[in-house]
Amino acid sequence: MSRTAEKNPYVCASCESSNVMIMQKWRYLFLTSMLPVLVVLAVSIFIEPLFLLFIPAVLVTNYIISARKTPMVMCRDCRHIEKGASLSRR
Ligand SMILES: [Zn+2]
Repeated sequence: MSRTAEKNPYVCASCESSNVMIMQKWRYLFLTSMLPVLVVLAVSIFIEPLFLLFIPAVLVTNYIISARKTPMVMCRDCRHIEKGASLSRR
């Protein structure tokens, strides 16, 4: 409803602006997994059902990657992208 009033816990690591977009883990996982999963599904439906076994592997791999790279902070001011923001900050 009130998206503009949302408080943002993240700031840009480069220019310290709070005008940033956050890519959360589930969203990153969804975006990176959708295409390979669809391809595997199509292959398994039309060619070989055994390819369905690749879907858990794709999801696990992308989950590991997303755990490292998210939350991804994208700055709208200076276009700086920081991957794994909360993990790399010390
Ligand atoms: Zn910035």
